[in-house]
Amino acid sequence: MSQNQEILPKVLDSLKTKVSDFNYKNWFQNLSWTYEDDQTVLIKVPTKFVRDWLTDHYVELIKFEFFRLTEKEHKIIFKIDKNINNNLELFPKQTKPEEDNTEKKAEAAEEIPADGSVKEKSVVQGTQQPKPQPNQPVRLGNLLGFNPKYQFDSYVVGNSNQLVFAACRAVAAQPAKSYNPLFIYGGVGLGKTHLLNGIGLEVLKQYRNYRIIYCTGERFTNEVISAIRYGKTYELRKKYRENCDMLLIDDIQFIAGKERTMEEFFHTFNALYEARKQIVLTSDQPPKNIANLEERLKSRFGWGLMADIQSPDYETRMAILRKKSEEDNIQVPNEVCEFIASHVTHNVRDLEGSLIRISAFASLAKLPVNLNLAKEVLKDVIPNAKPILTVENIQSRVAEYYNLKISDLKSKRRHKNLATPRQIAMYLCKTHLEVSFPELGSKFGGKDHTTVMHAVSKIKRCVQNDVTIRSDVDELIKILGI
Ligand code: ADP
Ligand code: MG
Repeated sequence: MSQNQEILPKVLDSLKTKVSDFNYKNWFQNLSWTYEDDQTVLIKVPTKFVRDWLTDHYVELIKFEFFRLTEKEHKIIFKIDKNINNNLELFPKQTKPEEDNTEKKAEAAEEIPADGSVKEKSVVQGTQQPKPQPNQPVRLGNLLGFNPKYQFDSYVVGNSNQLVFAACRAVAAQPAKSYNPLFIYGGVGLGKTHLLNGIGLEVLKQYRNYRIIYCTGERFTNEVISAIRYGKTYELRKKYRENCDMLLIDDIQFIAGKERTMEEFFHTFNALYEARKQIVLTSDQPPKNIANLEERLKSRFGWGLMADIQSPDYETRMAILRKKSEEDNIQVPNEVCEFIASHVTHNVRDLEGSLIRISAFASLAKLPVNLNLAKEVLKDVIPNAKPILTVENIQSRVAEYYNLKISDLKSKRRHKNLATPRQIAMYLCKTHLEVSFPELGSKFGGKDHTTVMHAVSKIKRCVQNDVTIRSDVDELIKILGI
């Protein structure tokens, strides 16, 4: 346990380098961290809000840091402890404990108007757009709920997503003027959530008083359920239909089949649409394919623009890997990016995940990131990738195959039973690894490079003419997974 405790400051130090000073102070400083057991860490936080924020935005990073430093998966649990006091003036006060988190985030954004005043009701209800105020900093209050990493700038555009990206840009530049609603659909991990955040963050740069509600279809559903249960439907309607300049709902397919939620959303949609407020929705499928979604919603979702995101092509995958490695400061040779990009083809989240796994493994094992390491680390993700291949590896497989010791392969004895396997091992090394003749000579017990050259050309000939040697070589190639 005491050894474990020593890990905690290291994790915090490392987090400090991964997030901005501002975020570190706000979200990590002064929280209490303790090990509950070998792989469970308890973090005490002052409010439910802080807990939810950490869960939504940082828990994966925290887990990753523990893994990186200990090579063990950790479980992170949070406990609300009123005695914890961090830099709370930046956090909205917690209100009712049972209150839903989404509401709190959205309200927090509303509670801190950028100019310190509460917005006039006429602006809220009318179709008038708040005046653009470019180049003003975005306040934390407005940022609440968005993942600041998911900016337009960090989104890589290629053939598979250029249309949808252009639409998102247009919507962010002039909300409700170009496409309303904008309906984005596409498979898992292709960047829908990223783009939805990007729109919100971009809009806030221009229109900093915009009251944007950003939530998932699941949260919307939960809010409807709790509003019905606690008799708060009036408040819910006011929030979504009146006190909202822009509605961004991620994974809207979640509301399908939930009658009251669909009903509520239908009226919300109509109210916002009529008031010319921008609506952006994402889904894993086009509306017509969403089972149990009311027809009237399906048709409304198609009123503006429906844009799909396809899996990225090879060039885009390479560009994404380059960008992510730059962002995370990971040195990755081109051949490693090529390897990942040619095997992980459908999902950007998996592309990112592969890169992170490789870099985590390399830093734990203190090894350089190279192709062999990448193949080894990703062998369960990329099943047909070839296993790690080294001179030592080939020597030990060949020795096993012929029932010899590795020292036999390195010895100077010339008996045919030893010489042929030795020459085959040299041949396999030379043809499948980037290694010079002198290097091989030294790895085979300090032999002269001409001996190795002779061995390699001899086996090359035998593979053509000698059935036994050819079948041995073929068998070894199979064993080595080359
Ligand atoms: P979805 O919501 O479609 O399941 P996400 O938006 O959560 O996907 O994206 C998964 C991960 O992939 C995120 O970390 C996101 O930043 C990243 N990502 C997806 N597409 C791109 C892209 N074109 N450029 C850069 N990063 C991307
Ligand atoms: Mg998503």
